[in-house]
Amino acid sequence: MKYVSTRGDAPALSFEEVILTGLATDGGLYVPESLPSFSQEEIASWAGLSYQELAFKVMSPFVDSVVSDDELKSIIEKAYANFRHDAIAPLIQIGHNEWILELFQGPTLAFKDFALQFLGHLLDHILKQRDQKVVVMGATSGDTGSAAIEGCRRCGNIDIFILHPYQRVSDVQRLQMTTILADNVHNIALEGNFDDCQSMVKASFRDQSFLPDGRQLVAVNSINWVRIMAQIVYYFYASLALGGPYRTVSFSVPTGNFGDIFAGYLAKQMGLPIDQLIVATNANDILHRCISNNDHSKKDLQHSLSPSMDIMVSSNFERLLFDAYGRQGASIRQLMEDFKSGSMRLSDKAMEMIQSHFDSYCLDDDTTLGVIVDVFGKTGYLLDPHTAIGVEASKQKRRHTDTPMICLATAHPAKFAEAIEKAGLKAPALPHYMQDLFEREESCEVLANDMATVHGFIQKNILRTL
Ligand SMILES: *Cc1c(COP(=O)(O)O)cnc(C)c1O
Repeated sequence: MKYVSTRGDAPALSFEEVILTGLATDGGLYVPESLPSFSQEEIASWAGLSYQELAFKVMSPFVDSVVSDDELKSIIEKAYANFRHDAIAPLIQIGHNEWILELFQGPTLAFKDFALQFLGHLLDHILKQRDQKVVVMGATSGDTGSAAIEGCRRCGNIDIFILHPYQRVSDVQRLQMTTILADNVHNIALEGNFDDCQSMVKASFRDQSFLPDGRQLVAVNSINWVRIMAQIVYYFYASLALGGPYRTVSFSVPTGNFGDIFAGYLAKQMGLPIDQLIVATNANDILHRCISNNDHSKKDLQHSLSPSMDIMVSSNFERLLFDAYGRQGASIRQLMEDFKSGSMRLSDKAMEMIQSHFDSYCLDDDTTLGVIVDVFGKTGYLLDPHTAIGVEASKQKRRHTDTPMICLATAHPAKFAEAIEKAGLKAPALPHYMQDLFEREESCEVLANDMATVHGFIQKNILRTL
């Protein structure tokens, strides 16, 4: 399988190369040149497979010979070995034909573990095979950082540096990152906001000359194709559990960078019968405005009770635009050039394609708290604030009540205790293996928002493992 850039002006890459790259050299994102597609009979024959067995079926067409079938199976086994629930992605019923897909059973209590546990073990395998060491550098507003650290901490060939905005992530989020005391794990609390962290990481990827010879940066945010690929699996898993492929299902997805729901769109393209894909956003609603009204314009960031969806621009939306514009890289280059002004208008044809696949809805904080209280009152099930947004969006935008609606639960409510308490409910306890989180020793470097300072810190700390 070859991978091509959405801007059409960068070399096509192999699977192995695409894992080890961030953005394409033309600024685009990598996508598969063509998608595998499965017949209804083939998908039906997977009913009853374990999550891990299904993951192999869905992902193996994307992976080339650099990872053998047996190796891929072993990587998948390791990736999901630390999940707390045997089903890996259990389904819970909360209403008539209304389901919650719990994607928070991994080590850091958010859905990002699905992709980052897998990516960590995959990188470990490939780097050992190539006898290569790399530097993982990423910015986080909370969940990505802990999931990436948890995924990479045991990889001897990776030094990982995660930047988070100093004093602007929740206590649980910070502690999940800073209490991992491993020689190859480095937390940087940057004196700035999340955008400062992200700009620093982006600039570092563009010019990697600060790294020692032979080292390169690897991306762990959702521009990395592997993150999307690993997320396709649970759409198949949930559908099969509810009678798919011979029964069509719909999904509602709490959305930030558009990585998670894009995986659902790919599942549909690969043959899974999906009726609706609902993009659920908080007040940072650029996607909702674009999908409902062709208004793709940047607005100031709003800090919400669902911080993992606080984004101004969704990077993975470009992957969908590539399809909406008939996979013409030149059109995407032009569009992104227009967007430098802060807004862009999509063609009628592109809008039609997007609206044929996606519905959208946005919720403010007060409504979100109301949903948490309401669902808890009716079912006893406690939603985290991100999931609550998806649940309400599904109610508002649902077209067919006889089609199962699956709401993706992207985080465990214990991770966002502040919001739960604001809703007037008692925050649940952390899982037992995290109960002493607040007593654990932390390791974190507070650094000025200055490129030379951050690069100096990285240089000093990589050298240790040379
Ligand atoms: C990252 C995250 C999201 C948003 O996912 P995207 O793939 O960026 O759209 C939603 N909820 C939680 C809890 C997250 O951590």
